[in-house]
Amino acid sequence: MQTQYDVIIAGGGMVGSTLACLLGKSGKRVAVLEGHEPSAFAPTDPYDLRVSAISRASQRALAEAGVWEGVAARRASPYESMRVWDATGDGEICFDAADLGEPDLGHIVENRVVQLALLDAIRASDAIDLYCPEKIAGFTLEEPQVTVTLQSGKTLTAGLLVGADGAQSKVRQLAGISLETHDYGQKGLVCVVQTQHPHQFTAWQRFMPSGPLAFLPLGDGSCSIVWTLPADRADALLLLSDAEFCRELTQALDKRLGEVIAVGERAAFSLRGRHAEPYIQERLALVGDAAHTIHPLAGQGVNLGIKDAVELAQQIRQAQGDIGSLKVLRAYERARRGDNVLTQKAMEGFRLLFGNTLMPWKILRNSGLTIVNRMGFLKYEMAKRAMGI
Ligand SMILES: Cc1cc2nc3c(=O)[nH]c(=O)nc-3n(C[C@H](O)[C@H](O)[C@H](O)COP(=O)(O)OP(=O)(O)OC[C@H]3O[C@@H](n4cnc5c(N)ncnc54)[C@H](O)[C@@H]3O)c2cc1C
Repeated sequence: MQTQYDVIIAGGGMVGSTLACLLGKSGKRVAVLEGHEPSAFAPTDPYDLRVSAISRASQRALAEAGVWEGVAARRASPYESMRVWDATGDGEICFDAADLGEPDLGHIVENRVVQLALLDAIRASDAIDLYCPEKIAGFTLEEPQVTVTLQSGKTLTAGLLVGADGAQSKVRQLAGISLETHDYGQKGLVCVVQTQHPHQFTAWQRFMPSGPLAFLPLGDGSCSIVWTLPADRADALLLLSDAEFCRELTQALDKRLGEVIAVGERAAFSLRGRHAEPYIQERLALVGDAAHTIHPLAGQGVNLGIKDAVELAQQIRQAQGDIGSLKVLRAYERARRGDNVLTQKAMEGFRLLFGNTLMPWKILRNSGLTIVNRMGFLKYEMAKRAMGI
């Protein structure tokens, strides 16, 4: 392996690896540092706890990166409809792919499956070197390059260092970039469940004052759930027996899919909104969760990160001259910050609107859902925006 690259990417998760593949395809020399090799996939494996609703825009980016086939060949579960309703009234909104002339609204995919397909493509590329397991230990600027020291003691140089190393980004910390954080005081409880009635390839989401509950359809008929709750309630639910938990979950989904009849391993993640300020420095850029994390209620986190990767790859491709210059990196930040902030604020607004138990707010959200559901044009503009089409 060489030690001189165009771009070094710390973090080979879904976002960093997408960026690497896009850059590799445009002829850039790329090094990817990834701390952990994900476990191998077999079609008989039970579904993982960590899944993402991959939008059509992300699917397109993964296809452009040459990996969507590798994702679909492992397993990806399309969902054709979405039903969202309010627990405190009769407001409900339904989206159907058929009404948009589309085969589906998106896919539910295990995070590990996306990452494995990307790492396969990285290993097959002559333009990209994968250092795994390996982590960044430090970096120094020696114009016109950045020199990166790895935990193994090796040093690599490049015109640009990208931090794609997740919410606890080491790159962000080393760069001294400040972070605005907001602790939601909530946890996202995740598990895979079997239900009495079929999921109908529909994503079901019920908004309760304590937080939303989503049932996401999987290919074998089971559902992956994300249940947002106050942290202490989530911890208490983790301690229940399977039978007690299934009873609670059945009630929480309002029996829309009948009884919850079986549940696998359960886990809960603390939910925190974060936003880096700025995303860039000379020869350094942050993408994905390293730059921002949002509430998972609309499943947009990795979709925003993949949009960051697409935009940064495009700015690098178009750059005339120095790809690590502030001129190029500012164009990336200008293009992405607005969308990321807007989405983060919108999720925060939904969370507050649906968490409010006062009567005027109940009336507002229930009549709002009902009215928007009847307004075909507005409803489908919203759906298209979420899908990225
Ligand atoms: C409960 C829950 C449900 C969610 N559901 C959805 C959803 O439905 N749809 C959606 O779009 N998003 C969802 N998200 C958000 C989504 O999971 C994240 O936005 C996404 O995983 C971020 O990807 P990333 O590649 O930026 O970061 P990560 O997935 O965190 O990847 C970072 C990578 O960097 C590596 N790494 C870390 N430190 C170092 C280092 N120092 N050196 C080298 N490598 C390092 C890690 O091993 C990892 O592979 C959800 C989040 C939660 C908590």
